[in-house]
Amino acid sequence: MPQNAQPTASHFINGHYVEDTAGAPIPVIYAATGEQIAQVHSATLAIVDQALQAAKAAQKAWAAMSGTERGRILRRAADIIRERNHELSVLETLDTGKPLQETLVADATSGADALEYFGGLAGSLTGEHIPLAGGDFVYTVREALGVCVGIGAWNYPTQIACWKGAPALACGNTMVFKPSETTPLCALKVAEILTEAGAPPGVFNVVQGLGDVGAALVTDPRVAKVSLTGSVPTGRKVYAAAAAEMKHVTMELGGKSPLIVFDDADVENAVSGAILGNFYSTGQVCSNGTRVFVQKGIKQAFLKRLAERLGTAVIGDPLDEATSFGPMVSEGQLNIVLNYIAKGVEEGARLAFGGKRLDRDGWYLQPTVFADVTDDMVIAREEIFGPVMAVLDFEDEEEVIARANATEFGLAAGVFTNDLTRAHRVIGQLEAGSCFINTYNLAPVEAPFGGVKASGVGRENSKLAINHYSEMRSVYVSMNDVEAPF
Ligand code: NAD
Repeated sequence: MPQNAQPTASHFINGHYVEDTAGAPIPVIYAATGEQIAQVHSATLAIVDQALQAAKAAQKAWAAMSGTERGRILRRAADIIRERNHELSVLETLDTGKPLQETLVADATSGADALEYFGGLAGSLTGEHIPLAGGDFVYTVREALGVCVGIGAWNYPTQIACWKGAPALACGNTMVFKPSETTPLCALKVAEILTEAGAPPGVFNVVQGLGDVGAALVTDPRVAKVSLTGSVPTGRKVYAAAAAEMKHVTMELGGKSPLIVFDDADVENAVSGAILGNFYSTGQVCSNGTRVFVQKGIKQAFLKRLAERLGTAVIGDPLDEATSFGPMVSEGQLNIVLNYIAKGVEEGARLAFGGKRLDRDGWYLQPTVFADVTDDMVIAREEIFGPVMAVLDFEDEEEVIARANATEFGLAAGVFTNDLTRAHRVIGQLEAGSCFINTYNLAPVEAPFGGVKASGVGRENSKLAINHYSEMRSVYVSMNDVEAPF
């Protein structure tokens, strides 16, 4: 029996579900079976206009509320999400194919963390007083930017909507969010829950669509800021379009991050880190450490334990809580990854584990490890965005730092070693925004998250996100006569 995940309507605008069947249909395919479980319609220009109009109309009154009041609404939304975690996690699994074992702890809950954290900060957002000579002073005023647009990738639909919506709303902005066309369902629930928690109509809106709808949002003059989670090529287009009208941006883009395992590392922990950094969410995580540099002395032990532990992955029905490894999100993404695997074999990398599509319905692929990978291979240079780990050998510290940095990306990096000074020395030289020592891919809301180089601009989460959703005006106050030259 196919699952049914049909939402009330395609869009959520001005506090209500809104349908407009004039837009092109977007089928929602359940990755575990290949069956259609819902259908939404792409936003027409009239729907885009309606959403932006609603966000614009709501913004001033929302910003005029006290931060404490806004924060209370966000924190109430966090509570509702936690109460409904099971139902929302099932929806996340249907939307993405990720195992329920993961979605129960990593998606709605992470969204709730963001709403709670930024809800807590909202009441303490202030400017400052700057004393000057002769009694003059400057005060600064922190203000919302206005209408913000959020555009999401398909790997974490609930989390991405909340990571963008929570800080935007805490600062007094309103938002129009466009989920990925591959996973359109979860953001609608975030809008519904924010409304139930007391967010006034128009404060958080969701419209569906592909890149053209995203582009229409980005170029609209009513929009002050765009926050994108997506690939580097899309990031370049969206950043350029935003720049034309001097809009603020946050760019959370792709990566090909290094994870460095030194000889003295704890093998079991290093293997755990490599598994987290390559196979969680079936490898569909932007910050994955997909270039695993392993020092020669530990290579055999590392590969042996890795293969043993990958052999215990439970691949199957994502709605079964025992399943620890689900399908790829879509047939298109599965084919992209299969092509990369074929390329790796052709380039002479050694297939050390997996590499095959599973003989069953849905978009299932084995967790895959290539050993003896060299820096020039395509599988070591391009983001694959699937469960494919490249293991590269190295001899010494200086060499591995240079090789780790030899990429246009700079999202994340990790080091496993029991030498404390080496850990900090190496991390200090890696060109990456989110770094890890003796663990990998943890992203608590309290810590900034985002990339350097081509992997991004700006930061999500932490107090830093506030600076990306607000701006400071300064007011000079003179307590003295005005001196003019003539
Ligand atoms: P994508 O770039 O294809 O699409 C991202 C979003 O942008 C989608 O909603 C898409 O409809 C929209 N879009 C496409 N063209 C557009 C345009 N011209 N104007 C406006 N919007 C447009 O990415 P994807 O395949 O959905 O997601 C995978 C990518 O996202 C990977 O590269 C991954 O690394 C990255 N990602 C980054 C982070 C992060 O936080 N850094 C998190 C998750 C995923």
